Amino acid sequence: MSLRVGVLGATGAVGQRLIQLLAPHPDFEIAALTASESSAGKSYREAAKWRIDAPIPDDVAEITVGATTPDDVPDDVDLIFSSLPSSVGAEVEPEFCEDGYVVSSNSSNGRMDEDVPLIIPEVNADHVDLIEVQRDERGWDGALLKNPNCSTITMVPPLGALDEAFDLTNVHVSTLQAVSGAGYDGVTSMEIIDNAIPHIGGEEQKMESESRKLLGTFDGAEVSLHGMDVAASCNRIATLDGHLENVWADAEEDITVEGAEDAMEAATGVDLPSSPERLITVFEEPDRPQPRLDRNIEEGMGVAVGGFRETTAGVQFNCLAHNTMRGAAGASVLNGELLAQRGYI
Ligand code: NAP
Repeated sequence: MSLRVGVLGATGAVGQRLIQLLAPHPDFEIAALTASESSAGKSYREAAKWRIDAPIPDDVAEITVGATTPDDVPDDVDLIFSSLPSSVGAEVEPEFCEDGYVVSSNSSNGRMDEDVPLIIPEVNADHVDLIEVQRDERGWDGALLKNPNCSTITMVPPLGALDEAFDLTNVHVSTLQAVSGAGYDGVTSMEIIDNAIPHIGGEEQKMESESRKLLGTFDGAEVSLHGMDVAASCNRIATLDGHLENVWADAEEDITVEGAEDAMEAATGVDLPSSPERLITVFEEPDRPQPRLDRNIEEGMGVAVGGFRETTAGVQFNCLAHNTMRGAAGASVLNGELLAQRGYI
């Protein structure tokens, strides 16, 4: 199978990771790239300030970047990956879907819309069939599917494993998030060097709502949100990549350290080309995982956990994932593979 794919927002932090993953992909062939008006008409090499520590793929470098409109993307493109600022995504993603394109999007717009599937394939692949409802309601031949926010993706696979075993009731989380999560123009060096910023606009709300949708139940018509309470506090720190999170999880049943570790070790992956062999890696060392040491676990597609402790607020643990890989580009690619596997393309 070879599907022709396009990337919207291809020059950004997540867009470049998408290029890194899609260029060697066995089933996808890059056929169109778009960005803002200031990049349109330039070669990708010229338009993208390439910041990934691997060479820019030669054949992609010479592709001419188009404007972000369906008119600039060939009709025979089967699947679109979108990593646009959310205000831009909100405007143009529906235009692509109306024109018949299937869009796997990383942007935050529309994630909580009732007819938009929000998916981590290892956690809630069954929600993908919400596309049938979406197509009925919106009259689209195309479809829109979202992956969650990078900080949400980091904690939800471990929480999903705990929920299955113990029925979660309360989750508290405090994050230490890398600068790449803000995009290339997001945080200046003057703001972040020798500093930590205890506020990331809208991030707490995303973690609190998206996690309940991901762990919610789909009955064929709608997704009922999970009933647990989630409270988040988000902080930016001076790491480049990899979001580290301190989580407290309480449940109907008491969660022991051993029970939590066993549940997470038993969490299974899915049969998709980009899914990691081991979804969750459990560290016994109390000072792991760490961003610099562990963000590339399973080629950036795994989640690492450690530091388990029983507390009065439930079991406490730390978790880590690579925010632009597992948390963004890799998540969109996995969702694209799921769409192909389930016959939506
Ligand atoms: P970024 O580095 O700022 O890149 C933004 C991309 O969108 C660039 O390709 C830019 O093109 C393009 N763009 C900007 N304005 C545009 C416009 N008016 N019309 C068309 N294209 C436009 O941002 P990012 O970090 O990659 O984030 C992209 C999306 O992913 C955001 O919605 C973000 O919330 C989400 N996300 C990011 C992360 C992460 O870890 N970074 C994780 C999860 C989700 P030019 O180069 O031409 O300006």
